[in-house]
Amino acid sequence: MSAQNVIAIHPAADLGCTDVNLASVLKERGQREVFCGLTGIIWLHRKIQDAFFLVVGSRTCAHLIQSAAGVMIFAEPRFATAIIDERDLAGLADCNEELDRVVTRLLDRRPEIKLLFLVGSCPSEVIKLDLSRAAMRLSQRFMPKVRLLNYSGSGIETTFTQGEDACLAAMVPVLPTTTEQAPAALLVVGALADVVEDQFARTFAQLGIQGVRFFPPRNSADLPAVGPNTVFLLAQPFLADTARALEARGATRLSAPFPLGSEGTTQWLQAAATRFNVPTVVFDAVTAPGRQRAATALARLRPQLEGKRVFFFPDSQLEIPIARFLSRELGMQLIEVGTPYLHRQHLSEELAMLPAGTLLSEGQHVENQLDRCRAARPDIVVCGLGLANPLEAEGMTTKWAIELVFTPIHGYDQAADLAELFARPLLRRLKIGGISKSPPKAELLEA
Ligand code: SF4
Repeated sequence: MSAQNVIAIHPAADLGCTDVNLASVLKERGQREVFCGLTGIIWLHRKIQDAFFLVVGSRTCAHLIQSAAGVMIFAEPRFATAIIDERDLAGLADCNEELDRVVTRLLDRRPEIKLLFLVGSCPSEVIKLDLSRAAMRLSQRFMPKVRLLNYSGSGIETTFTQGEDACLAAMVPVLPTTTEQAPAALLVVGALADVVEDQFARTFAQLGIQGVRFFPPRNSADLPAVGPNTVFLLAQPFLADTARALEARGATRLSAPFPLGSEGTTQWLQAAATRFNVPTVVFDAVTAPGRQRAATALARLRPQLEGKRVFFFPDSQLEIPIARFLSRELGMQLIEVGTPYLHRQHLSEELAMLPAGTLLSEGQHVENQLDRCRAARPDIVVCGLGLANPLEAEGMTTKWAIELVFTPIHGYDQAADLAELFARPLLRRLKIGGISKSPPKAELLEA
């Protein structure tokens, strides 16, 4: 490790009381290997079914979205890129006029769009195109038929899940306000697969917690109201700005681990049950079948994963809850758990459940981390696509971090699916002949 790139290694004694279980947090700054926030469009456009995401960016941005999302042949996609070309960059064209023209044409052609996001990118930020003013200007023109909002998905200082955070945070100011007399209501925050959302909605109803809302909604006309009587549970660990915006509207966050794995799901549901005074006997009766199903399914996979050593590169911000799940419910060993950002408050319950001495790294210096990874020779490496193929070429087994966001993994019935995401690559590696003994470093650098 080259010392000048490491900002600090904090011993446990310097950490807050929620970090009692941590031996150290390695903070790194250097070259990062992550996708940008535009990636979030891929799952958000499926979730909010009458929304459209117009990236204001370059051809690179267009290629990223198209190749990551795939091109739909039978349905028109609900995302596109307004390309900033050389004339815009040279200041020869009025970008605002061009944007207005593109938006007008789009909304004429696609009357089903009710919510249009103008999504900023690196190029739009470099030329300082003010998309918030553009969204306001165009909203005045197209409201009430279409609402326009804006957020940034640029790769300047973001990691790919921050795209969802920025999108949801942009929606918070337009959420209706609850009336003062309204009873306390639960809001689940973070895009979940519809199947998972339906499962949680059923569980909350069985617990007797009425009127639970999910954010983002499936339809932009169905925005949940928010106010001082709103309590919210984060379903994803990467929603710091959204949580802050909700708190600014008077809502209160319920502290809980994230609903990944059986244990995380139980404690997440328990946080809501405690807040809404659900009797223990009811909670146990409602959650017992789910816990049992998860235990049975995980028991089948545990022999393949127990004792296996896992190394996380920082990528999705899901690393810490998933590391907790893999170590506590499947007996895997955590070599290093990298995360792009460590939100100590939102992750305090998760951090307390990690095994003592877990090495956490925050931020990234990719060369240093590759050196540590090679030295450790883990059984499986969780990393971005850019690192996965070269590491596979070195004989390591990898799991693409982005799959953790695209796959339904929350809740009891998805706990085994989450475990399988790790079991499958290990099985494949076993079939093709195990881990190579000599890491050819040059091969990686050339790849
Ligand atoms: S927003 Fe930036 S990082 Fe993302 S695709 Fe466009 S140019 Fe690349």
